[in-house]
Formats: sequence, C-alpha cells, structure tokens
Amino acid sequence: MGIKYSSKINKIRTFALSLIFIGFIVMYGGIFFKSSMWLMTIFMLLGLLCIIASTVVYFWIGMLSTKAVQVTCPTCNKHTKMLGRVDLCMYCNEPLTLDPALDGKEFDEKYNRKDTKKADSIS
Ligand SMILES: [Zn+2]
Repeated sequence: MGIKYSSKINKIRTFALSLIFIGFIVMYGGIFFKSSMWLMTIFMLLGLLCIIASTVVYFWIGMLSTKAVQVTCPTCNKHTKMLGRVDLCMYCNEPLTLDPALDGKEFDEKYNRKDTKKADSIS
C-alpha cells in the first residue's frame, strides 16, 4: 500500500482507450499516403487492428469486472471494484485491501479519519 498507481481496471481502461486513439491516428495517417495504394491500405489495416484490439481489451475488462469485488470506498463513499487482494479505489485512488490479515482491523476507519474529526474533539 501507499504506492501511487491508479486502480487495475482503470489502467486497463486507459490502455483500451489509448488503443482507439492510436488506431484512429494511424488510420488518419494513411490519408497522407494516398499516392500509394498499398501503403494506405497497410495504415488502414493497422489502425483497424488497433481498434479491434481495443474492443478485445474492453471485453476483457468486462470479464474482469465480473470477477472483481464491489466495495464501498471508505474515503469517497463511492462503489468501486477491486481486483485481487489489494487495489486502489477507481475514484480517489485510496488503497483498499481484501487481505484477511488486514480485514479485521478496519484499517479504513482509522487511517481515513485521522485529520477530519479530531479538530472537533480538541476544542
Ligand atoms: Zn474512493
């Protein structure tokens, strides 16, 4: 925990989205090679392959999402999905865990409210 990455599903989603963009850019690049038919075709096919790959990745995300565990983030109170034992919240990047060793400790309650409510009790 404490590592600043985005959640696994978000990462894959970003990858799929960038594949679409790359696909369109490559296809658009083919326009500049109008003079040679086969070069333009190669660009179009490459772009199409990227877009097909991204839809495959999107399907993969769908498959992963069914396996993902839905939890309520203790920090932003949104429903997020986590993959594996430790993942980050999709909205606020809060580290979340399903590890049984940490599960009983209710670490979210203590760690996330360290600053917010204490000020009231001091005064
Ligand atoms: Zn969150």
